[in-house]
Amino acid sequence: MTLALAEAAAAALVRVEVARRELFLAPLRARMARVAGVHFDNQKTVLERKLRERGAHLNESVCREGLGDAVAGLMITIFDEFAVDSADAMRTVLMDAMEGAIKHRLLDFGYAMSFSLRNPTAEKYLKTYCLNEIKKIDATSLKIMKGIVYQGLFEGASYTEIAARMVARYAAFGTPVPQHHLRNRAELIATYETGQAYEAAGREVADTIAKKGIPIEKSSITVGDDRVDAECLAKEAQKWIPLTQPFTTDLQKDKVEHQHSPFHIACRCNTIYRVATKRARAMLARSPNPAPVEFYAIIK
Ligand SMILES: [Zn+2]
Repeated sequence: MTLALAEAAAAALVRVEVARRELFLAPLRARMARVAGVHFDNQKTVLERKLRERGAHLNESVCREGLGDAVAGLMITIFDEFAVDSADAMRTVLMDAMEGAIKHRLLDFGYAMSFSLRNPTAEKYLKTYCLNEIKKIDATSLKIMKGIVYQGLFEGASYTEIAARMVARYAAFGTPVPQHHLRNRAELIATYETGQAYEAAGREVADTIAKKGIPIEKSSITVGDDRVDAECLAKEAQKWIPLTQPFTTDLQKDKVEHQHSPFHIACRCNTIYRVATKRARAMLARSPNPAPVEFYAIIK
C-alpha cells in the first residue's frame, strides 16, 4: 500500500470512530437532557409555589436589600429536595456511556479483555461525582436567580414581577429551543456530562494498556461541522501526541491543561488512541488478559 493510500485509510477509520461515538452518544445525550429537564422542572414547580406562598411576607418586610438572601435561602431548600434523585438518574446514564466507551476503545485496540464497571468502587465513585455535578448545576442556577433579583431591584420592579421573571427563566432552562444551533442548559449539560463520562472511560482503557508497557498515542478529533470552534481545531491540528502529554492551551484563556476532551461545556470532540509502534502492536496482540479488569469510572 502506498503512503498516501495508507493515510487515506487511516483517516477513513478515524471518521468511522467519530461517527460511531456520535451514534452511540446521541440517545444517551437525549436521556441526560431529560434528566436535567426534569430536575429543572421539579425545581421550578416548587420555586413557583414557594414564591407565591411567601409573597406577602417577602413583598413588604424583606424587600429591598434582604430579597437576594431570602431567595438564596429558599433556593437551597429546593436544591436539597431534588439533588439525590437527579444524581441517581444521572448515574445510570453515565454508567451506560462509560460501558460503551470501554467496548469501543477495546475494539479499536483490537484487544480482548473482559472488564467490570458495575463494581462497588465504580458505583460509589459515580454516585459522589454525580451529586457534585448536580450541586455545581444548582450553584449556577442560584447565581442566575440572584442576578434576576438584583437586576429587578435595580430597575425598581415589584416583587410579583421579579418572581415571574425567576419562574420564566427556570422554565427556559429545559425548554427545547426552536433554532437547532441554540441549545438550552439541559442540552449543554447533557453534551458535557455524557462526553466527559465517555472520554474518561476511554482514557481508563488506554491507561490500563499503557501500564503493560505498551506506548500509546492520542489524538483529538472534532465532529467536523460548522459549530466546531478554534480551540478544538487547534487541538485537532496537533495530530498524534504521547498519551500523557496535555493538549495545547494556545487558544485558551484559562490555560487549563486537558488530557482528553471535552475541552469546554459544549465540546463534542473525540479523543482517539492507538498503539505507537508496530512492534508494540504485536506485543499487545500476544498478551491477552483473561482475568476481568475492574474499571473505576474515575472522571477527571
Ligand atoms: Zn471540542
